[in-house]
Amino acid sequence: MIGERENSDAIDRLIRAMPKVEIHVHLEGATGPDTIWDMAQRNNVDLPAGSRQEWREFYEFRDFAHFIEVYISATSAMRTPQDFEQMVRDFAGRQAAQNIRYSEAYVSPQFHLDAGLSQEELLDALAAGSDSGWSEHKSRVRFIADISRQTEMRRDDVLPFALAGHERGGLVIGIGIGGIEEGHPPEQFETIFAEARRGGLHTVAHAGESAGPASVWGALRSLHAERIGHGIRSLEDPELIAYLRDTRIPLEVSPNSNYRTKLVPAGEPHPIRALVDAGVYVTVNSDDPPMFSTDLNNEYLTLARQGFSFEELWQLNLATLEASFLPENEKAVLRQEWMAFADKTEASSSGL
Ligand SMILES: [Zn+2]
Repeated sequence: MIGERENSDAIDRLIRAMPKVEIHVHLEGATGPDTIWDMAQRNNVDLPAGSRQEWREFYEFRDFAHFIEVYISATSAMRTPQDFEQMVRDFAGRQAAQNIRYSEAYVSPQFHLDAGLSQEELLDALAAGSDSGWSEHKSRVRFIADISRQTEMRRDDVLPFALAGHERGGLVIGIGIGGIEEGHPPEQFETIFAEARRGGLHTVAHAGESAGPASVWGALRSLHAERIGHGIRSLEDPELIAYLRDTRIPLEVSPNSNYRTKLVPAGEPHPIRALVDAGVYVTVNSDDPPMFSTDLNNEYLTLARQGFSFEELWQLNLATLEASFLPENEKAVLRQEWMAFADKTEASSSGL
């Protein structure tokens, strides 16, 4: 008979071993404090900290507003094409170490273009990093250009950037909005999103994170978002939950992000359980892993600790693959790998 401890060790091993994809993770927020400190030194950028240690402490944000502040400071250190190439290559390595085969990473071009990189330099650097990530680590990275809702500078440059990136063999696959929801409703971005769709880009929107259901409705009705980033506050509106369930629009859920920004109080079970029970299409992601002291494995482990069985986690992992914007032929290849893992696991872990 398998004891509880052995069972939890077995789930831990299975989570680490299972092939995965990740569809909500920010390139900038996936870069660790030390790499950013080194970049800042190299690029003569002042960070709001007097030492590496102070910067590491600043990096541990306190609430949502501080998180945005950390994000903007960190982003200011990223200046050269080499910075971005290294960030993407290292990111692919860390994803590969977790058996993540494919990632859709948000990148926020407004800050980088404003800091002096040209559109072509930034796209070249992302492409080079993604190519070496693939050849060195066999983990593929594609990008979603994320508009920072509260940032007006260079806003009009995001769509041209995304379209030019899309032309490069689908290096950029979509456009999104992120940042502060309050005062910056999705409706403000309706025209940009309509043009993006006409240009063949996928559309996603952070919504229902710090703002309530109206923000999610806006993302669905005005932006026709194909997926919703977070969306956990949809639970406040039964009509919205029914709509999400019926339309099978995936939510990109990141449990530890919500705990760390204190949107979900510590010690309370994450609302992902209620979403799953309501039949909503849920995917699992890490958002800004080093800022939130997490990674994708840890997100699944968090759910395991909250009572999700391995079978449930496996279904969430499958759902995340299916919700990705991978071309169908590439998705089919990964689906086969997923099935092979499931078959092997079934054969070796009866009794789990
Ligand atoms: Zn996010």
